[in-house]
Amino acid sequence: MLSPMMQHYLETKKEHPDCILFYRLGDFYEMFFDDAKTVSRELELTLTGKECGLEERAPMCGVPYHAAEVYLNRLVEKGYKVAIAEQMEDPKQAKGLVKREVIRIVTPGTNLSAQALDETKNNYLMSIVYLDKTFGVATADVSTGDFLVTEVSSVRAMNDEINKFMPAEIICNDAFFCMSGIDVEDLKGRLGITLSPLENHCFNDEVCLQRLTDHFHVAGTAGLGLSDYPIGAVSAGALLAYLYDTQKSGLAHLSHITPYQQGRFMMLDTSTHRNLELTETLREKQKRGSLLWVLDKTRTAMGARTLRNFLEQPLIDRSEILARQDAIAEMNEDMIFREELREYLNPIYDLERLIGRITYRSANPRDLIAFRNSLQMLPHIKNLLKDHKSALLQELYDQLDPLEDMAELIEKAIVEDPPITVREGGMIREGYNEDADRLRLAKTEGKEWLASLEAEEREKTGIKNLRIKYNRVFGYYLEVTNSFKDLVPDYYVRKQTLTNAERYTTERLKKLEDVILGAEDKLFVLEYDLFCKVRDKVAEQVVRIQKSAKAVGIIDVLASLAYVADKNNYVRPSINEKGVIDIREGRHPVVEQMMRDDLFIANDTYLDNNKKRVSIITGPNMAGKSTYMRQTALIVLMAQLGSFVPAASANIGICDRIFTRVGASDDLASGQSTFMVEMNEVANILRNATKNSLLILDEIGRGTSTFDGMSIAWAVVEYISNSKVLGAKTLFATHYHELTELEGSLSGVNNYCIAVKEQGDSIVFLRKIVRGGADKSYGIQVAKLAGVPEPVIARAKVLVEELSAADITVRAKEIAAASAGNSPAVTRPDEVDLNQMSLFDTVKEDDILEELKSLDLGSMTPIDALNTLYRMQTKL
Ligand code: ADP
Repeated sequence: MLSPMMQHYLETKKEHPDCILFYRLGDFYEMFFDDAKTVSRELELTLTGKECGLEERAPMCGVPYHAAEVYLNRLVEKGYKVAIAEQMEDPKQAKGLVKREVIRIVTPGTNLSAQALDETKNNYLMSIVYLDKTFGVATADVSTGDFLVTEVSSVRAMNDEINKFMPAEIICNDAFFCMSGIDVEDLKGRLGITLSPLENHCFNDEVCLQRLTDHFHVAGTAGLGLSDYPIGAVSAGALLAYLYDTQKSGLAHLSHITPYQQGRFMMLDTSTHRNLELTETLREKQKRGSLLWVLDKTRTAMGARTLRNFLEQPLIDRSEILARQDAIAEMNEDMIFREELREYLNPIYDLERLIGRITYRSANPRDLIAFRNSLQMLPHIKNLLKDHKSALLQELYDQLDPLEDMAELIEKAIVEDPPITVREGGMIREGYNEDADRLRLAKTEGKEWLASLEAEEREKTGIKNLRIKYNRVFGYYLEVTNSFKDLVPDYYVRKQTLTNAERYTTERLKKLEDVILGAEDKLFVLEYDLFCKVRDKVAEQVVRIQKSAKAVGIIDVLASLAYVADKNNYVRPSINEKGVIDIREGRHPVVEQMMRDDLFIANDTYLDNNKKRVSIITGPNMAGKSTYMRQTALIVLMAQLGSFVPAASANIGICDRIFTRVGASDDLASGQSTFMVEMNEVANILRNATKNSLLILDEIGRGTSTFDGMSIAWAVVEYISNSKVLGAKTLFATHYHELTELEGSLSGVNNYCIAVKEQGDSIVFLRKIVRGGADKSYGIQVAKLAGVPEPVIARAKVLVEELSAADITVRAKEIAAASAGNSPAVTRPDEVDLNQMSLFDTVKEDDILEELKSLDLGSMTPIDALNTLYRMQTKL
C-alpha cells in the first residue's frame, strides 16, 4: 500500500507526464522513480531510495532547495521541462498531509532565471501552427516581454524565421511536425531546439483566439492588428495558453503583440549567418572574432540584444537605413553628446528583464533599487536628446518616458541598501508609512527599555556581568555566569543551563519580550505588504517601462555604432537602389581588428547589374580571396543595418539577400558528405537568389573530381551571369583557372586576381586585387611556405611539369569560344536537379573515337555502316 504522500506524488506526476517533477519535501526538492534515475544520471547526483509503502524502496534523488536553481537550469539547458511542486502550507501547522501544488513549469523557452540567461541574447519561445499550407508563427521572450507574430507560406521562409530567432523551444501542432516538410530532426539535433508537439486541442481556433483577446482585453483580433494573420493569431493564442499553463501567473508584461511581414528585412540563411561569422566564429563558436564583437560597444543589456537583432535583420528600406545613418552622423558631429549619452547608459540595468521579474512578483528589494538607479538615468538621457535634428533621435526623444514618478515612488519607499529577503523587514524607508514608523519605534524603544532593565537588575542583584541577550530559540534571557550563581534571586526563572552559565527570565523581561517581538513580527508583515504594493504599482506601468526600455536599446545601439565608426575610421556609405556596389579601399572589419603588427591592405569592389555582375577571382591559396569576398559581404550588410563601413568611400546598392557558399563546411555531424552539403547549398542559392542578391561563392566544385568540379563551377557561372535567368551580383573565387576564359564570352563576367610577387623560388603576397586572371596557382610555393619538407616539394615540381594541364586549358578556350555571344538558353527550373548537374559527360567524344577506330568495316553492310554512323551522331 503506497504511503499517502507517495500517492499524491504519483497523482501530481500523472498530470505532468512530460516533466521532471521537483517535489518539495522540507529543505529539499525530491525526485522519485524514473525521474530520480534520469536526474541522477544527468546531474551526476547520488541515487538513494525512500520507503514508500511498497516492498521495494522508491528510487530517490534530491537537491537542496536553496541551490535548486542551479540544478534546475542545468536540466532545462539539456532540454528537459521541470515542474516545481511547492509546499502550500507550513508543515508545522499542517494537519495531516502537507498541501503541495505545482506552482510553475520551467521549460527551455520559458526560463526566467537570471543565472541561466545570457543578457545579450533573447530567449525565445516560438509557436508554429501549420495549416492550409501556411505557417502561423508567434515568437515571444517571456523574460523581456517581446511578442511577435507573422505568417509565411514556404518551408524556406519558415526555416528563415527559425534561423532568425533561434528559439530555445518550439511548440507546434502535429501537422507542422509530420507534414510541413520541415526537417524536425535537424531542428532538434543540429540547432539544439527543444521541440514540443502539443495535442491538437491546444491549437483549437476558438480557444486560442479567446485566450488572445482575453489576455489583451480586446474584443477581437482586429484590435490587435492581426486581421491579416488569422493563422498567426491562432499560434499566438496557443503560445499564450502554453505560458499560462507553465508560468501560472505574471504575464502582464506581455503587454503588446507586434505583427510583422517577412519582407521588411534582408534575409540571411543559417549558412550565411555562420559563414560570415556574424555573431560567433565558425570554429571556436565564440563572439571574439565575429562582426558583433567589433560592433558591440553597447552599454546596456537592451542595447546588446537590439544590436544583435539589427545584425540579424538588416534593412532593405532606404529611408530606414538613412534614418539610422543620420542619427549616427549627428552623434559623431557632437562627440560630447555621444559620450555623455554613453555615460548615462552605463549604469542602466536590464530594464526589460527587471520589469519581467517585477510583474512576475519575483523581484526582491535590491532589484527595485537597481531598477530605480536605472530609471534615474532616463531624464538625463531624454534631456540630452532634446533639440537634435535627426528624425530618429527626435522619435526616440518622444518615445523615452523618463518615468520620474516610478523612480520617485521607489526612492520614497525603499531604503538605499535593502536586504535580498522580503520577509525580514529592513526594506521600507522611514517616513514612508506611519504604522511602520510606529512599530519600528516600539522596537527601538523596547531595546532601550531592555538596556535599562539590565542596568537595574545588575544593581539589584550585584551580579556585575549580568547581560540580557537574545537568540531565536529562547528569545530574550538574562545570562549569569557560574561564578555569580549564588547571587541569583528567587524571582528568576531558569530557562536553560550551559556549562559555564545559566539563563533566566523574569516577569518583566517576558512582557518586554512580547512587546518587542510582537512589534517586530508586525513590522515584518507590514513591510512585506508595503513592498508588494510598491512592486505591484510599478508592475501596473509595464507598458510605459517597456517602451522606454526599447528606446534605451536603440539609443544604445546608435551610440555604439557611432563610437565604433569613429574609433575604427569608418565612412558613411551612400545607399542606392540601382544595384551598384562601389566600395573604394574597403577593409575587412574583423580581420583589420585582429591584426596586430601588419597593416590591412584595402581593396576596391565594383559590382553592378550590367557589365560587372560577376567577378571571377583567382589567385593562390592564402592570397586573400575569401577575406576579400567576405569583406564585401560584410560591408554591404553593415551598410544595410545602418552602420558606417570600413572603407574610404562606399556606395551600396540595397541587396535583398546575401548568400554565401564558403569553403568546406564541417557539417560532418549531419552525416552528409562535404560534396553533398556543398551541392545542397548551391542548389538553395540558385533556387532562391534574385537579381538583387549578392552571392559569395568560394571554390564551388572543390569536393569532387577536377572535371566534374570545374564543369559544375562553369555551369554555375553561366547560370548566374545570364541576366535572363538570374543575373545576381556575384563574387566567385576559384582555383580553376580555366574559368577565366569566360570573360569576354559571357556578358557581365570579369576576371580579377589577387596579386602575388615572385621572388626567386618563392612568392610574396601583395593582397591587392587587380584586373585579370592569375596564370599560375603557386600551389607548390604555398606548400613550401607552409613548411612541407623539401623532398616532397622537389618531387611535386617534377610531377607538375609532367602532368601539365595544358589540354584542359585548350579545350576550355574552345568551349568558351563556341558559347561566346550565345549564352546557353537555360531556363530557371524550380528544382535544381543534382543528378543532372553531375552528368557532365566530358569523355563522351573520346568513347566515340574509340568505337570508330574499332569498327570492322570489311564485314559491315552499307546499311549497317549507315546505322552505326547515325547512332554515333545522335550520341554527340
Ligand atoms: P585565400 O582565401 O585566398 O586562401 P584568405 O582570404 O584566407 O586567403 O587569406 C589568408 C590570410 O591572409 C588571412 O588569414 C589574412 O590574415 C591575410 N589577409 C587576407 N587579406 C588581407 C589583406 N587585404 N590585408 C592583409 N592581410 C590579409
